[in-house]
Amino acid sequence: MRNVVVVGYGMAGARLADEIRRRDPGADRVAVTVLGDEDHPAYNRVLLSSVVAGSLTADAVRLHDADWAARRRVDLRLGEPVSKVDRTRRVVHVGDGEVPYDALVLATGARSWVPPTEGLLDGDGDGAMAPGVVAFRSLDDCALIVEKASPGTPVAVIGGGLLGLEAARGLAGRGCLVTVVHPVGHLMERQLDPGAGRVLARTLEGLGIEFRLGALAGRYVPGEGLELVDGTSVPADLVVVSAGVRAETALAEQAGLEVDRGVLVDDALRTSDPRVHAIGDCAQHVGTVSGLVQPAWEQAAVLADRLTGAAPAARYAGTTVVTRLKARDVDLAALGDVHVDVDCPDAEVLCFQDPARGRYAKLVLRDDRVAGAIVLGAPDAAAAITQLYDRGLAAPTDRLALLLGRALPTAGGGEASPADLPASALVCRCNTVSKGQLVGAWRAGATTVSALAEVTRAGTGCGGCRDAVCGIVDWLAASQPQPA
Ligand SMILES: Cc1cc2nc3c(=O)[nH]c(=O)nc-3n(C[C@H](O)[C@H](O)[C@H](O)COP(=O)(O)OP(=O)(O)OC[C@H]3O[C@@H](n4cnc5c(N)ncnc54)[C@H](O)[C@@H]3O)c2cc1C
Repeated sequence: MRNVVVVGYGMAGARLADEIRRRDPGADRVAVTVLGDEDHPAYNRVLLSSVVAGSLTADAVRLHDADWAARRRVDLRLGEPVSKVDRTRRVVHVGDGEVPYDALVLATGARSWVPPTEGLLDGDGDGAMAPGVVAFRSLDDCALIVEKASPGTPVAVIGGGLLGLEAARGLAGRGCLVTVVHPVGHLMERQLDPGAGRVLARTLEGLGIEFRLGALAGRYVPGEGLELVDGTSVPADLVVVSAGVRAETALAEQAGLEVDRGVLVDDALRTSDPRVHAIGDCAQHVGTVSGLVQPAWEQAAVLADRLTGAAPAARYAGTTVVTRLKARDVDLAALGDVHVDVDCPDAEVLCFQDPARGRYAKLVLRDDRVAGAIVLGAPDAAAAITQLYDRGLAAPTDRLALLLGRALPTAGGGEASPADLPASALVCRCNTVSKGQLVGAWRAGATTVSALAEVTRAGTGCGGCRDAVCGIVDWLAASQPQPA
């Protein structure tokens, strides 16, 4: 029996334990211990913006119920951090005790980065936030935010990236007076170009959010607000910090493993010690620290294949990611390399702007293939372009129709319908589930959306594909012969 110890009971650690038990349900080959420092059963961190927005409760985002560990024969210990890894003796330290391992998996995720702005920390040197200041990473953070976010409360959100904007949208929806303070001249600068950033800001302003772009927070004074470096100030009874994350690598560093921006891993998800693995937000694979759930879950599946012996040669080959903003009334997808000028000689760059209607689309093509795209306010175009990108297909010659969402890459070039999607089309990105897998599961008896979620896990990540899964279920049901 192989003794696998997982440090971190977040989205990657929880999924790894599940994947191991899918391959070894009777716990005959692998004993699994999961050590998590949060007090809760694992939850879907991706959905925390919905908890802040009030559209989901804390209970609704749980990944596991209270009986999960007993049912799955997992030794689960919560509420205390692993403080040390002793690689010579092959034990980890938790509280006063030690836990031995044959294989150790670091799934310690990432932590919020707090800018060195005066007044954000409590001043005790313990890294705790000052009263009225909350980072946005965990379920406990959400509870603190929601507690203070009554209608009319002035809130400053530090950071105009993906998570900052999701938090801002949720808080504005609760009736708070939200100002986003962002040091760069346009929003989400990693994923968007300035034009898309401007259209997005305009859309969000229409939903009641104010912006201070190109502005640095200088000092937070409780009761007075957030002073900016330019001498102005933003009213704030609550400051939400969402200024980026850093991989949680402290344990790996202490253990003497090779660490760069994350814990370095190879295609077998091994660190510089072959008995120690790393997955999820704490891992760095071929230069990439992903910070997204799809890679974390793909890595969990590969590692489970290896650790259970189900596929000992399984390899992680990287993940093609698409960024989506999950904010009510805003539909935004960004993928690939978008920071390419229209006059770039070795790329074809198309751009369409309709700021008054909140629409913006940029398409970067190389050798006729999608190399990057930003699609705001045009979900049909986003779906079509994402499909082309995923499958490496040539773009249709009518580029304008593609940008406007009128040219889905269907076999016959006709109307978009589940029937037209090829079997290989990815429907659920978070769980890497294709239409073909959904059809197979449906034919094997999983004929409802929840049954399909149980079997394939489609729809259990960000939930953005639920309409598509429903569409496939309806289409399959309608295409069955009706009883006479
Ligand atoms: C608000 C929000 C929205 C997001 N939206 C999206 C999205 O739309 N799409 C997307 O793909 N991704 C999204 N993400 C990112 C996604 O949540 C992460 O990629 C995912 O959670 C990574 O899983 P993980 O297990 O590696 O890390 P985590 O989920 O952070 O889990 C790590 C766990 O390890 C614990 N831990 C750390 N150190 C120790 C220790 N020494 N001992 C014991 N336990 C320890 C941590 O407390 C934590 O519980 C979002 C994140 C946030 C915060």
